[in-house]
Amino acid sequence: MQAYFDHNATTRIDQRVLEAMLPYLTDEYGNASSRHDLGTRARRAINRAREQVAAVVGVQPAQVVFVSGGTEANNLFTRGAAAYLKPTQVAVSAIEHPCVMKPALDLARSGWSVRKLRVGAEGFLDLGDAGEALSVPTGAVSVMLANNETGVIQPVREVAEMARAAGAWMHTDAVQALGKIAVSFEGLGVHAMTLSAHKIYGPKGAGALVIDKRLQLKPVIHGGGHEGGLRSGTENVPAIVGFGAACELAANRLDHVARHTGLLRERLDAGLARLGAGIFGRDAPRIPNTTYFAFENIDGETLVIELNKAGFAVASGAACSSTSTDPSTTLLAMGVEPELARGAVRVSFGVTNTPEQVEQLVSSLSTVVARLRQLAAVAV
Ligand code: PLP
Repeated sequence: MQAYFDHNATTRIDQRVLEAMLPYLTDEYGNASSRHDLGTRARRAINRAREQVAAVVGVQPAQVVFVSGGTEANNLFTRGAAAYLKPTQVAVSAIEHPCVMKPALDLARSGWSVRKLRVGAEGFLDLGDAGEALSVPTGAVSVMLANNETGVIQPVREVAEMARAAGAWMHTDAVQALGKIAVSFEGLGVHAMTLSAHKIYGPKGAGALVIDKRLQLKPVIHGGGHEGGLRSGTENVPAIVGFGAACELAANRLDHVARHTGLLRERLDAGLARLGAGIFGRDAPRIPNTTYFAFENIDGETLVIELNKAGFAVASGAACSSTSTDPSTTLLAMGVEPELARGAVRVSFGVTNTPEQVEQLVSSLSTVVARLRQLAAVAV
């Protein structure tokens, strides 16, 4: 069995989550809009999930809009806000996931100016630059809570204060933060927040945009008016039920998961230091499960392939969906040289990983890196 160290890409569904979902994949197949008993039970299951999702980030259930995942939630905020507001500026951090960055850049076609907010060398947002950016009329701001590659936790609360003062709507993509650090909608002072089920031991294909009810978003998907008119389409009841169960689980075991993965990360970082790797964002606040590193003159893709052969699942570059070999835009935004950025490898721990697996990974890294260096020396 491979040691799976790619939990920022996705997680294995938890058995308890699966069991909560199973009835809705079999006997309880009703359409939640139907008025008969089967439909009513499906509606009740969605309502319960809405409460569970709301509770994990401390909001009212009515603030939760179920969608198909993080990608859709980010598109809904960006496009939905822009369709309601009069075009001014949209400001997004330079390290956003493509599902924020691309819809934001697309707004340029409808009269918006798009401002990328800078990050420093550690991958932490430059608050001075954000302040400057928000000195011109701005409709919407989006800054992720934790970066999917570096794991660096961003100063969302501080930016939200600035955004509010500037009269802009503030959104945060909290997909990589949920289940790893405490996430409070109110505490962050945001108007909208994106969540995804499959990063927290839930099913793929469910997520939410959590919104301040005063926000007047326009829907992106039109139809029967589900989810308060914001997201039409027959609800994916099993996935929504699984998302709710995963949120409850995440809340109940947050401390354990954070402590457990944090100890594994400490071990790995110590091993990486011994082997001479550089860790991106090492001195910034990071979610506890993530380390992003590179060895000079060693290609990240090659390292990932070699580690895969040795029994370890890790990621290179942005990894969630990218098939491109371009260096990571996050690392380039941090001012990392493209050559070093091409060496980037990400390890993201989860609740089932063990210290022994980490020791084995460090030992394999040592062997593989030495071999690749030898091959490179022969080739010169
Ligand atoms: N936002 C971030 C920061 C992510 O890491 C990801 C997935 O990798 C997404 C959004 C997209 O979420 P989903 O896979 O649920 O569409």
